[in-house]
Amino acid sequence: MLEVNFPITAVTKIGPKYKSLLENIGISTIEDLLYHFPFRYDDLSQIKLVKDLVEEDRVTVKGVLGPVDNIYTKYRKRLTKGKLLDHTGDIDLIWFNQQYLKKSLSTGKNYKISGKVSTFNNKLCFISPEIELDSGNTINTGRLVPVYPETAGISSKWLRGKIKFILDSQTNLSEFLPEEIIDEFNFQDINEALNEMHFPDSIQEAENTGERFAFEELFIELLNVEKRKYEWSKKLKSKKYKSFEKEVKDFIQKLPFKLTGSQKTALGDIISDLKKENPMNRLLEGDVGTGKTVLAIIASYISHLNGFKVLYMAPTEILANQHLKTFEKFLKGTNIKVELRTGSVKENGDWSILIGTHALLFNKEKYKNIGLVVIDEQHRFGVEQRGKIVDLIEDKKVPHLLTMTATPIPRTLALTLYGDLSISILDEFPFEQRKITTKVIPEKMRKETYEIIKQKNEPTFIVCPLIEESESSSLENVKAAQVEFENLKNGVFKDLPIGLLHGRMKSTEKEEVVKKFRKGEIKILVSTPVIEVGIDIPDATIIVIESAERYGLASLHQLRGRVGRGQKEGLCFTFMSNNSRDSYKRLKALENINEGIKLAEIDLEMRGQGDVFGTEQHGFKKLKVADLHNLEMLENAKVYAQKYFPKLEEYPKLLGRLIQRKGYYIGAN
Ligand code: ADP
Ligand code: MG
Repeated sequence: MLEVNFPITAVTKIGPKYKSLLENIGISTIEDLLYHFPFRYDDLSQIKLVKDLVEEDRVTVKGVLGPVDNIYTKYRKRLTKGKLLDHTGDIDLIWFNQQYLKKSLSTGKNYKISGKVSTFNNKLCFISPEIELDSGNTINTGRLVPVYPETAGISSKWLRGKIKFILDSQTNLSEFLPEEIIDEFNFQDINEALNEMHFPDSIQEAENTGERFAFEELFIELLNVEKRKYEWSKKLKSKKYKSFEKEVKDFIQKLPFKLTGSQKTALGDIISDLKKENPMNRLLEGDVGTGKTVLAIIASYISHLNGFKVLYMAPTEILANQHLKTFEKFLKGTNIKVELRTGSVKENGDWSILIGTHALLFNKEKYKNIGLVVIDEQHRFGVEQRGKIVDLIEDKKVPHLLTMTATPIPRTLALTLYGDLSISILDEFPFEQRKITTKVIPEKMRKETYEIIKQKNEPTFIVCPLIEESESSSLENVKAAQVEFENLKNGVFKDLPIGLLHGRMKSTEKEEVVKKFRKGEIKILVSTPVIEVGIDIPDATIIVIESAERYGLASLHQLRGRVGRGQKEGLCFTFMSNNSRDSYKRLKALENINEGIKLAEIDLEMRGQGDVFGTEQHGFKKLKVADLHNLEMLENAKVYAQKYFPKLEEYPKLLGRLIQRKGYYIGAN
């Protein structure tokens, strides 16, 4: 008898080879396999008589199998030919390179055949159909057939067989959802639901059952959120700050500008967090240019006044460099020592603020006396980093954490998925908002667009999604930065200084290119989206985005935020690499909407969570079943997670499930 937590090798005919293949898709136990759900179902449920078949039908035929022969054609093709007969006639069956079939099939027995009806030598036939003994309960033919996420060496057919075997062997999962939830949503028993998920009788049935697993997934994730929230804010103690009101006020007064209203509010939030017993865990969310950095600088200053050090992490070395300058500028006249640390620089400990990349967290020497950690432009909201930050603990005290992002996260998502974070939003711009005109350009207008760029002769970004063509072999027309650079350099822009910037260049090379671009020695910079993360080149005015349909609107919004930062109005031209009307319509929103959050909400509505954040996963692991469009379910899952988290001990099965699921965050103690 199989148990759900047995390793997958407990299933007959799954040995070391399949074990390692399955591990590639995250499957190591029997339960994992049961939770490997189909992403669609092929409808092969329609059963027809031979006499009614017409070309292009995708159907199932029941009948008796005639003789099966292996044939070698004159072109040395290996064919296996057979016939299926019912009382209305017979139809040819042809397979290529599947000699072994002859041995495994039995002439004279009843079979089901599923596939597409084709013609061969002017006769109807099935080419490479599925064939299965007609034992009543078939899994590959004559029904809705599940199609699974596959990996090399693991086909949907193989998965079907194994999953069916497990389901039939009465490997029962025990119900772990509380009864109240099952009743409230009218969910089925878990084992029944698993059966229906893999082998449903109708699409409707699959969809209904899917609800249960979607809920389950969100519920478990949100219980995790509750756990993190609890551990971070209830169990951990912080380095408690004094507010130094007068000094801070003086500092703010000396700034070359007045803080905006939302900067003031956010600063108030931050200061009140710093004074608390428990460490701050705040996300500062604000569009590019809303002035997040200065708040981080003020918080760093307060840390210094309290005698604590600060770690400031930028996403790239280029940005770390930029921030060093900004910090030095704002902190001039204080005795605060700011130091930059990139891979090569050695740190001697004689600093108050240490600026670097995320590598700072992986330092071998132990930092002393860190009061505040700032993570700028964070893409994964700190789940991992937080674990690391807890390592900075001294005397059982944890540094405060301020995370900053320009990624507009719709409020509903932020509050739910990152429910363990407090959030401050900067929704005001210090200046009159920068003006960026965006146009979605049809391919046939490309030449004219290049003409405009030439005439303007201003710093221009050309953003391509990939570096080398080879990465994109399956994606036609996707411009690769490297190739596009060569083309433009030797083509339309041969008379302009042109440069290339991408993530795989050495950081010194990157800096060199950025420097030249800033100085105007490079006029056109072809790049991958590495520029997204906040390079400040005030004079850049034009940005061309290739294959724009591949990005979420929010990401595009961030990309175009690279231009028009100086005096001149910005121009953003987007091109598409396909002709999809939907993509076009979606991109058109960029022409009229200028708020990142609104664009993110459109993304959420139109394409679901994945695209709100581009390809990164932002600390929230990719959902298998649930779809974040379904805000109602998300809300429900949150309500129940908050209800059950404090009394998990009373629900040992649920608790067991949480602990056993991979990715359950077992954090700081
Ligand atoms: P973000 O990191 O949010 O994109 P920055 O912190 O880089 O934005 O700020 C953008 C620019 O605006 C910087 O030059 C900064 O000095 C300036 N700035 C910040 N706050 C204000 C303000 N209240 N008034 C005027 N300028 C400001
Ligand atoms: Mg910034």
